[in-house]
Amino acid sequence: MSDNFPLGHERLLELAKKFPTPFYLYDEKAIRDNMADFTKAFSIFPKFTEHFAVKAMPNPYMLKVLADCGCGGDCSSLPELMLCQMSGITGERVIFTSNETPAEEFQLAYKQGNIINLDDITHIEFLRDALGGKFPELICFRYNPGPLKEGNAIIGKPEEAKYGLTREQIFEAYKKSRDFGAKRFGLHTMVASNELNPDYFVDTAKMLFELAVELKEKLGIKIEFLDLGGGIGIPYKPGQKKVDLFEVAKKIRALYDSMIVPAGLDGLEIKWECGRPITGPYGWLVTKAIHKKDTYRKYIGVDACMADLMRPGMYGAYHEVTVSGKEAAPKTEVYDVVGSLCENCDKFAVQRPLPKIDMGDLVIIHDAGAHGRAMGFNYNGKLRAGEILMRCDGSFKEIRRRETVQDLFATLDLDGVKDFK
Ligand SMILES: *Cc1c(COP(=O)(O)O)cnc(C)c1O
Repeated sequence: MSDNFPLGHERLLELAKKFPTPFYLYDEKAIRDNMADFTKAFSIFPKFTEHFAVKAMPNPYMLKVLADCGCGGDCSSLPELMLCQMSGITGERVIFTSNETPAEEFQLAYKQGNIINLDDITHIEFLRDALGGKFPELICFRYNPGPLKEGNAIIGKPEEAKYGLTREQIFEAYKKSRDFGAKRFGLHTMVASNELNPDYFVDTAKMLFELAVELKEKLGIKIEFLDLGGGIGIPYKPGQKKVDLFEVAKKIRALYDSMIVPAGLDGLEIKWECGRPITGPYGWLVTKAIHKKDTYRKYIGVDACMADLMRPGMYGAYHEVTVSGKEAAPKTEVYDVVGSLCENCDKFAVQRPLPKIDMGDLVIIHDAGAHGRAMGFNYNGKLRAGEILMRCDGSFKEIRRRETVQDLFATLDLDGVKDFK
């Protein structure tokens, strides 16, 4: 859990007067500092790029901040490709890691000059057909190691995952795409989600290094970048330890020196496409206590709900909860902190020791800066919260307004319904 909320009680009260709760708050300076650390850790490689996973925080203001920190983008849909383009993340700064991809999405990625990362061997022909017989000069494939790699809780076992090509298919795929005219090659994998064990990532790198060396030996294919995917976790729970990226980078660099350099692949670029560890700890959902209910348990009802932040309801995920102005108060109560959705899993915290909460208190849900607002939805007619960025100079900018009823009804034919019998 990150004990890094940037505003004192008075300033938060002031902010909530200007922007009514619930809202997301992001800390630009903390994100910039964090990204600088990430870059520093991996600068020991000849070439390194972090392609921020747009799905974690799909807001062009944030993408511009991240681009300014040197990030590229990782996209998996047409709107995400557009978001990168409008945020100044262009060309090969964008990697398109999609699956079950419609032809028009491949067409846009190709037109924008983005790196296309294919999820299946049949997509080679699909892509060529989508591009009217043309084929990109640079192509990447997503490797699924199957039983060769253990999975983790959120993403599951690789052999049960729908993503990627098998080891055998990988060899066939590079050969085929070379026949189709590809001249430059990347290799990608993504086998973890929210993983806190640093050695997991070292093993992943080793697995890709072995494959890159084998591709060179067997096919004479010289891989120019390895994309280690995302999946670096953050400590949501008190007592959990942040992944030490400097340690991870050093261990991967040692393998690079013993495997990649002797194989004649020196200069090989290392890529990540992380979202969570970049922005996750520096975003908060700020909500207000509006109801208190004592039945078989004690409940605090807040004005945000699972439609604003799905992770606790969907995965049973833990998010730290604090009460503004009561950070040091003794935790004398045990509450379920709940939202208004007609689903019993709509609980931000279950049986959580907290200080006594009064109506009107501002309740802060931590580590919501990645896969937070982005995973929101409109079920039950819920209107999603907006997003506020605290700039480096301490000023605030509303970078997404709260949804309105008009937004919700925008896809309905409200004129036609009048005459509908
Ligand atoms: C979700 C995803 C990411 C980002 O994952 P984080 O856990 O946010 O780092 C990266 N790559 C792919 C292919 C993904 O699906």
